[in-house]
Amino acid sequence: FRDRKLIAHIIPFENRRQILVTHDITESERIDMMRRDFIANASHELRTPLTVINGFLEIASLQPDLDITIRHSHLKLMTEQGERMQRLVEDMLTLTRLESMDHLLRVETVDMRGLLEQIFQEAEALSAGRHQITLEIDGPDIRGSKDEIRSALTNLVTNAIRYTPEEGKIHISWINTPQGAKFSVTDNGIGISPEHISRLTERFYRVDKSRSRETQGTGLGLAIVKHVLLRHKAQLLIDSTPGVGSKFTVQFPANIAIEE
Ligand code: ADP
Repeated sequence: FRDRKLIAHIIPFENRRQILVTHDITESERIDMMRRDFIANASHELRTPLTVINGFLEIASLQPDLDITIRHSHLKLMTEQGERMQRLVEDMLTLTRLESMDHLLRVETVDMRGLLEQIFQEAEALSAGRHQITLEIDGPDIRGSKDEIRSALTNLVTNAIRYTPEEGKIHISWINTPQGAKFSVTDNGIGISPEHISRLTERFYRVDKSRSRETQGTGLGLAIVKHVLLRHKAQLLIDSTPGVGSKFTVQFPANIAIEE
């Protein structure tokens, strides 16, 4: 209790009695601060694309006879910013949903081969031939929420593509170990310095903000991964060296696998 602040509230009860409530305000203060930070960050992230869109709309209304090629390039930029806002809002909704359903997990059988083959195809489409992507599947099916697991693993694979330059290699694997089934994605991309690693799952935390924006990141991907893994009692391990590459591993608990 030494470094905790305790506060006592006197609350009237049915106008007769009074109840003394004590609670730890450091915890509620922390949650409050996180909420304020989230709102501030989210507003900031949404303001940039909105400013761009509003600016071009103003130009369009002030200069209705603008050259058609310029007009097209403005429309393209507005579309990109609109898509960026959509990704942000979708990620924010996913995070909020995950948090508000804290105790509810819709458990079903997850066909991991089917899911990983789908993720692999989507990765190939996103990379558009710029990377060499390989897939190894040797692990079991598991019990969990298919949508949530898809979202977490897709985020990790998408990051590997985003932060690996052209012609880089990305290896996705799903194997069984005595500790439980293990998913990993290894890339030989830009890597991450050790001082950033423990903060990567914080909302909106990015090593390089401008690069993350360029690559269409929202800064919420790993926060979503963290929540999904917590709900499945799985662990995230990050092993990375700047300039060499990164390996993101998800260790699922042994009892989540379905015996064949
Ligand atoms: P973002 O949408 O910015 O990618 P994430 O939450 O998914 O947000 O990731 C947070 C940050 O972690 C990224 O901005 C990036 O700096 C770093 N990161 C994530 N994955 C990788 C990776 N495979 N290689 C290098 N850096 C990565």
